[in-house]
Amino acid sequence: MRAGEATVRSGVVIVVGGGFSGALTAAHVAARGLGCVVVEPGELGRGLAFGPAAEGLLLNTPARLMSALPDEPDHFVRWLGCAPGAFAPRVAYGAYAGATAAALAGERMVHVRARAIAVERDGAAYVVACDDGSRVRGRALVLALGNAPPRAPAPIDPAWPEYRADPPAAPGDEVLVLGTALTAIDAIARLRGRGHRGRITAVSRRGLVPESYAGAPPGEQVPSGRDAIATPVSVPAELVARPSLRALIAWWRTAGGDAAGRAAGVRAAAPAIWRALPADDRGAFLRHVRARLDLVRHRAPPALRELVDRGRAEGWLDVVAGRVAAAHRTGDGIAYRIGAIARTARWIVDATGPDRDLARSASPLVRDLVARGWVVPDPLGLGAITGARGELGAPGVFAVGPWRVAAVWESTAVPELRVQAAETAAAVAAYVRA
Ligand SMILES: Cc1cc2nc3c(=O)[nH]c(=O)nc-3n(C[C@H](O)[C@H](O)[C@H](O)COP(=O)(O)OP(=O)(O)OC[C@H]3O[C@@H](n4cnc5c(N)ncnc54)[C@H](O)[C@@H]3O)c2cc1C
Repeated sequence: MRAGEATVRSGVVIVVGGGFSGALTAAHVAARGLGCVVVEPGELGRGLAFGPAAEGLLLNTPARLMSALPDEPDHFVRWLGCAPGAFAPRVAYGAYAGATAAALAGERMVHVRARAIAVERDGAAYVVACDDGSRVRGRALVLALGNAPPRAPAPIDPAWPEYRADPPAAPGDEVLVLGTALTAIDAIARLRGRGHRGRITAVSRRGLVPESYAGAPPGEQVPSGRDAIATPVSVPAELVARPSLRALIAWWRTAGGDAAGRAAGVRAAAPAIWRALPADDRGAFLRHVRARLDLVRHRAPPALRELVDRGRAEGWLDVVAGRVAAAHRTGDGIAYRIGAIARTARWIVDATGPDRDLARSASPLVRDLVARGWVVPDPLGLGAITGARGELGAPGVFAVGPWRVAAVWESTAVPELRVQAAETAAAVAAYVRA
């Protein structure tokens, strides 16, 4: 150990990032008999989605789809003791993911509570430098850095004190929410839950709000078997093998079933379709189709969708289509303009979703990895270029989680990530044992 180095820890495998993807990947590695060190500043299994920032918010997926273990579909329902169709608290899910990872891993998983700031190579090993001065050494490295905070769209300045993820809004404060998808609905629900009664303006390019889980009665239950996962409409094999955006849209219009079923069919075939889709079509999909598909692919718990409808009917929620064309600080907040609308908001909540463009990442670790060429940002801003098993640009370095959206499209939700965690652990184990 060199002078000034607080600690050096060693595991065969280092996992950086201990949200759902990192914690479960590390646990599967440990369950395969390999020592594993997870570098994560917070509790394991939480991350952005299921940590303290999600206090008071619900999962947007019924509990019966949220098992962390691919082979035990009712594992989460049994752990929580809830109805299969319930939308469980997100912080409870974080506790579940952490506990499940710990139980799976046993003694072989070590948690270093720190933030990784750089990685270097030392012969066949990788050495991760952490912000507490410690260093972690291992033969393989898994990057599970997940969801980066949203990037404030111009002309909003993220340095403005009114720009907050969770503002301390007084009951009468006017709030501008950037985005109208699930994160925006969460923000609206949180404000109302804390007694906010002022006007909320929510804006997105098209001003569209996610659909509700079909067939659910009022409240937070979905009858078993009545959601998109249960009734997929399959995309024909020849279209999966040779897709074009035009042909997929034509299929969508004529395939029958309901939209949620068609979205489930697309989800099931997404990795193959995305891989084979011509590059121009991928770009066109992001610009013209994605937002509409997301309305049915990422649906809202019925209670939250009802809140949006009630807010619009009662006049305290204004959902508008457009973009913030001008904004500046005044003594009272942020004066902004969207088309003909000119208002002043006391607070701005950015619900535009995680920024997946690694080329403009503010993380010192990501910048270091990009500079070394070990991480190559996807040109469409969808994470990193990876191999079929998550391989990055140096031997024994893998990505798991949302960074793999560029390769498989569906790489953000638990049903896909629980499989990816187990498969990545197998790939990492094969690498170190080769
Ligand atoms: C608000 C929200 C709600 C969601 N709700 C659902 C849902 O209801 N159902 C569902 O299926 N999916 C949901 N998702 C999808 C969710 O992202 C995934 O299910 C999953 O949580 C992603 O986990 P992850 O570990 O890949 O990323 P993250 O959860 O983002 O975890 C990344 C981790 O990396 C750590 N990290 C970052 N940089 C460093 C560093 N330099 N050093 C060390 N650690 C670092 C962070 O601290 C963090 O813990 C939701 C996502 C969001 C954002």
